[in-house]
Amino acid sequence: MTRFLFWEDSYRREFDARVTWTDGTEIILDATCFFASSGGQPSDTGKLNDWTVTDVRRVGNDVVHTLQNGAHFSEGDAVRGVIDWDRRYRIMRLHSACHVMSGVLLKDFDVRKHTGIQIYDDRARMDFDMEKLDQTTAEEIEAAANRIVTEGHEISAKITSWEYVETEPDLKTVSGERYDRSSVPRILEIAGLDRQLDGGTHVSNTREIGRIRIVRRENKGRSNKRIVLVVEAP
Ligand SMILES: [Zn+2]
Repeated sequence: MTRFLFWEDSYRREFDARVTWTDGTEIILDATCFFASSGGQPSDTGKLNDWTVTDVRRVGNDVVHTLQNGAHFSEGDAVRGVIDWDRRYRIMRLHSACHVMSGVLLKDFDVRKHTGIQIYDDRARMDFDMEKLDQTTAEEIEAAANRIVTEGHEISAKITSWEYVETEPDLKTVSGERYDRSSVPRILEIAGLDRQLDGGTHVSNTREIGRIRIVRRENKGRSNKRIVLVVEAP
């Protein structure tokens, strides 16, 4: 089992760890800051010692790292890891922006459910069910989201149990997907706005997101709408 340092402190960018498993191609560490793609958030990039990490994936409660040109390490080796922080921080702001947007859409804009989310390193895409999304409504959504940003709501994550999750049937994921039942459930809360099941990395206050801008909107079907958003410097 890998210790998820990215859950303990999403702002941590460097770490020391030990190799607990390798097959000569991939390696598992006893702890890592490398986030593995899930819930629409892409994997981190960065280095383990001098080697570039080319892929990160979750297998149960382990994080498997792939390095350029082989594993380079043996079991028991000490490793120093560094993630590409500028990229990760932008992704954190975008991910938190999506949750703000989601909270606003569900609360004030008659959106019933989300059907997809994908975060890139410079933008994010959200799909949801909504009858009508014209320019005026898009501007209202953007304004409501930016009010939450400037109000400075605290963002926090708490690990919970599946027994607890059963007691709160409204808990969903922003992606609209089912949260992986084989992993540890975690609740992400934007104080006063939104609670979701979420395994991603986030900023700790909505103010850090910066200004949210909807740069594109599309009708993907009668009630299926898509927006693409970016975040500008706070
Ligand atoms: Zn999320």
